[in-house]
Amino acid sequence: MKDWHTLEPDLYRLMNKHYTPGRPSSIRCIVRHHNAGVNLTTGDVWNIWQSRQASAHYQVEVNGRIGQLVNDWDTAWHAASASMNAQSIGIEHANSGGPPGWPISDATIREGARLAAALCKAYDLGRPHYGTNIRDHREFTSTSCPYALAPGGPYHQRWMDEAVQFYDELTTGPKPPAPPAPTSKEDTMNAEQSHQLADVTGQLTGSPTPGEFPGWPQLGNRTPVDALAVIGKHLGLPGFYDPRTRK
Ligand SMILES: [Zn+2]
Repeated sequence: MKDWHTLEPDLYRLMNKHYTPGRPSSIRCIVRHHNAGVNLTTGDVWNIWQSRQASAHYQVEVNGRIGQLVNDWDTAWHAASASMNAQSIGIEHANSGGPPGWPISDATIREGARLAAALCKAYDLGRPHYGTNIRDHREFTSTSCPYALAPGGPYHQRWMDEAVQFYDELTTGPKPPAPPAPTSKEDTMNAEQSHQLADVTGQLTGSPTPGEFPGWPQLGNRTPVDALAVIGKHLGLPGFYDPRTRK
């Protein structure tokens, strides 16, 4: 998966038929499937569904790569029940071997469970919980699918544990703090810059704290502003006076 928060899949191979655009109801659960086919890629299932009236939203490949075949907001034909199709997202898991065990790779288990967790978060379905927001194909029609992933099978508990753990990570994990947006010029000045600015102001005009800045020796220990005032006074300019003598 490229991005668990935005649900960007590793690849798209969108169906051009055998799904229904849009959804008559909101998303309420995830339905698990296995391919019952060995080492199928996203492209492989796309080809199979060209001649079969079926589809699912996602294919999790043997190496863990996740392909999207039907957009989440469209209705895939995966649960053999129009009402279940309307309110669910179907995830297909690739098999790494054939019958009788129909094994599934560790990568497929992990990524399939994480995908379900990310979908639960994205669509506000709550923490993954089998029987409510996580369902299996075999509940809705006469099939053994998802076979080894179903309760009693070798992968069910590991898949559920991974889904719950990843959901918690996505929802409560540490997030990088966003830097606060500056609201005024003062907010963008740090303490060091503020100190430097006060220093420069003091050297030009005289510090508000007497004695803090002794003045420039070449100006008779005056600040530039005070030196200018003395020069103006000696030139006889009106309003100029020597700040030391107040005359
Ligand atoms: Zn199925």
